[in-house]
Amino acid sequence: MEYEINCSACGKSSPSLFNFKCPSCDQPLDVKLNFDFKAEKIKVKNYTVWRYAIFFPYVREKEIITLGEGWTPLVRFSDNTYFKLENLNSTGSFKDRGSTVLVSALHKLVKKTGGYISEDSSGNAGASIAAYAARAGLKAKIHVPENISGPKFSQIQFYGAEVAKVSGSRSRVAEEAQKIESGKFYVGHILHPLFRDGIRSLAYEITEQLDWNALERIYLPVSAGTLLLGVIDGFKHLVKSNVIEVMPKIVACQTIQVSPLYHRFKNLSYTPPERITSIADALVSVNPPLLNLMVKRLREANGDAVTVKEDEIFNAFIELARKGFFVEPSSAVAYAAYKNQLKNKEASKNDKTVIILTGTGLKTMSKPS
Ligand SMILES: [Zn+2]
Repeated sequence: MEYEINCSACGKSSPSLFNFKCPSCDQPLDVKLNFDFKAEKIKVKNYTVWRYAIFFPYVREKEIITLGEGWTPLVRFSDNTYFKLENLNSTGSFKDRGSTVLVSALHKLVKKTGGYISEDSSGNAGASIAAYAARAGLKAKIHVPENISGPKFSQIQFYGAEVAKVSGSRSRVAEEAQKIESGKFYVGHILHPLFRDGIRSLAYEITEQLDWNALERIYLPVSAGTLLLGVIDGFKHLVKSNVIEVMPKIVACQTIQVSPLYHRFKNLSYTPPERITSIADALVSVNPPLLNLMVKRLREANGDAVTVKEDEIFNAFIELARKGFFVEPSSAVAYAAYKNQLKNKEASKNDKTVIILTGTGLKTMSKPS
């Protein structure tokens, strides 16, 4: 078998692509690849995630649902520092990498049963899943908190997804989305292993765009962990396949307000604030379901976790915009963290560094002053 889907805790294999947690212990599932990455297998004339189609063996080529996601520009910012413009994906965020892989793998089977997909997200992931469902001609029901508004919520509705407003906490929204109902297939982006696995393509792309030269440092914002875990998996696969020699130093960047990974990683206790007021409003997972897995994988990868203050995020957001990079404030968290590490001499301008700009500024709730 070219791949297996196994439990990250008990190791038991999962028989169905639809499972979003281990059938015996409820812990997160992982996609395990039993083949090497080989550059000569890339479809070099395909400028989307699907240039790497062969490395996603559970997707049939003729069933691919694409909106042209991936192969986003890697722009040199200064010296050895590059920005990866994930804001330029089809729906405006990196989430499209997960959605294209997940929806491509499952849409045929869902349609055959006359069913629909269910997701919980009022943000970029909700919009992305809604778009790919629309492209596949698939019914999607997106569960959102009841008080939701703003551009991301409008985007979900414009794609034609059914919206279910749920009262109560964020975990109530997830419970409602997962509740077993006839015809429903839960594809929640945080838990579903295929969504996370789609993010692997980002590591392949960055490395290919750097002409297969190893990267030294990579900065990315972390909330629920799909980006972090997917990127680690991608670089791990490249190391295992002898494409690169070592993992880059992966720096997980969080806001001070929402920093459960940072605290757990540094063995500190964390109490979330009563209300999150950060302008980095895409980073809200105070109690992420994949926290244990994130800590484990980040340690194995010899990565690091840092936090940034509110004024640092704001200044980084404005600085990026004034240099022509209009991204959402949550994306600026990674740039703010990079600047801090440069200042403290924990990072050097000589290191080949990539900062992932995760989402477009056009969806921001912030207003210019
Ligand atoms: Zn298990």
